[in-house]
Amino acid sequence: MTALPKFNAYINGQWVPPSDGRYFETVNPYTSKVWAEVARCTPEDANRAVEVAHAQLTTGEWSKLNATQRGALVHKLGDLIKENAQELAEYEVRDNGKLLNEMLAQCNYLPQWFYYYGGLADKIEGSVIPIDKAEIFNFTRHEPIGVVAAITPWNSPLLLLAFKLAPALAAGCTLVIKPSEFTSTSTLKLMELVEKAGFPPGVVNVVTGFGAEAGAALVEHPKVAKVAFTGGTESGAYVYQQAAKTLKRCTLELGGKSPNIVFDDAVIDDAVKGAISGIFAATGQTCIAGSRLLVQDGIYDEFVKRLVEFARSARMGDPMDTNTQVGPVTTPPQYQKILQYIEVAKSEGAEVLLGGGPASGPECGDSQWFVQPTIFGGVHNKMRIAQEEVFGPVLSIIRFKTDEEAVEIANDIAFGLAAGVWTQSIKRALKVSAAIRAGTIWVNTYRAISYMSPFGGYKMSGLGRENGIEGMKEYLQTKSVWISTAADVPNPFVMR
Ligand code: NDP
Repeated sequence: MTALPKFNAYINGQWVPPSDGRYFETVNPYTSKVWAEVARCTPEDANRAVEVAHAQLTTGEWSKLNATQRGALVHKLGDLIKENAQELAEYEVRDNGKLLNEMLAQCNYLPQWFYYYGGLADKIEGSVIPIDKAEIFNFTRHEPIGVVAAITPWNSPLLLLAFKLAPALAAGCTLVIKPSEFTSTSTLKLMELVEKAGFPPGVVNVVTGFGAEAGAALVEHPKVAKVAFTGGTESGAYVYQQAAKTLKRCTLELGGKSPNIVFDDAVIDDAVKGAISGIFAATGQTCIAGSRLLVQDGIYDEFVKRLVEFARSARMGDPMDTNTQVGPVTTPPQYQKILQYIEVAKSEGAEVLLGGGPASGPECGDSQWFVQPTIFGGVHNKMRIAQEEVFGPVLSIIRFKTDEEAVEIANDIAFGLAAGVWTQSIKRALKVSAAIRAGTIWVNTYRAISYMSPFGGYKMSGLGRENGIEGMKEYLQTKSVWISTAADVPNPFVMR
């Protein structure tokens, strides 16, 4: 039997085994087979990574680079990602079972984050304040916030890492990354490129392993200044509480239950495709899934008929096959969770219009984690299937009559990550976009994302913004510098 590939952690520019020598297995969701072993980093490993990242930030070679030099390194990393996109995408698919088509599109797009923030690195300017005091010169500097713990989930490991890595490096921060235990390998492959780009050792580190071990150690470490987290709302809220003990800054990109609203004046074929892309792309394992489909009364029957027909034709299969449209679920716990929610929906009285259970057949290969694309009709917004995040290919359709009712239903939820609006009326589009409490609104499109445009959640979907100039500011803090130009020190007992 050939030995499985073994992945070590990346600390201080070295590939290091975990301090207690333990590894865990990583499984390919399509073959259901273990294909590699990954270092199970201990809190001690995480602490060591933070120390080297902190040393680079304060006294190391990194701390001496100017912003233009930093930007050039970030840009170079973008070039290397571009050259290696195919390989990175294949690592992602082996770990998370998402479509090669989707992961390749993401990896081909990743360099843009590094070009954009690499370019921005030396354009962050402080300002001179026209201060209200005589003989004082006051100006601001925007400085790196410090060591960043970047904690990422399994659904789009490199894309969600790029949201953090590119602006953090451009801002002058150093990082310790903790990828999901289910999808560590693409992040480790990326470190080969970080090294090749010429980043000083210790600027970017990866500790693989479990959230409760390596992840928790990062969140608790006093020398970590900021936690940039993407994951579930429950874990995010816990991380936020732990981070508060040492007053860390946090950006939290969490769950969603996004409304995708189809008005009766929508172009039906476009809206059908938008609904499909909102829930069945990525096997529904995306925080921005349009999992609540709100359809207006006048077109409800026709729309639902066309939607179900379209969804029925979705091709399940090997995610590496570029003809496949729906792949397996990534993890066994996620698979169980999706099936449980399907049962919850049935017991709540939702009507199964399509699917409604596990999938099997030759197209599923040896995978034990395929779920049928599932559509529920007759859903009421108070049902659990309408309120809780499933993170799978399960769509709930809710009927509405008026625009006001659509907005009320859309907002009657704890989450606020995204929403879709399908209409040909510009007035309606603007009015509804303004009224929905979510961080992203798509009109006549769905699942569009860019390095340039801020992304983040309202309500329980998160805190802070990633991407765009706002995303860079999350890695900076402002210092105000006061210089007296007075000939002598005025009365020391009175505030100036
Ligand atoms: P989790 O919240 O379980 O995990 C996310 C990351 O946090 C993982 O690396 C995990 O480690 C780590 N983690 C978990 N607990 C802790 C802890 N106490 N301290 C430090 N780190 C911890 O999410 P999943 O990986 O299961 O991802 C799916 C979830 O992510 C979905 O619910 C989805 O809504 C959300 N998501 C949100 C996105 C957004 O941008 N808003 C985008 C993508 C996903 P480990 O896995 O090793 O335990």
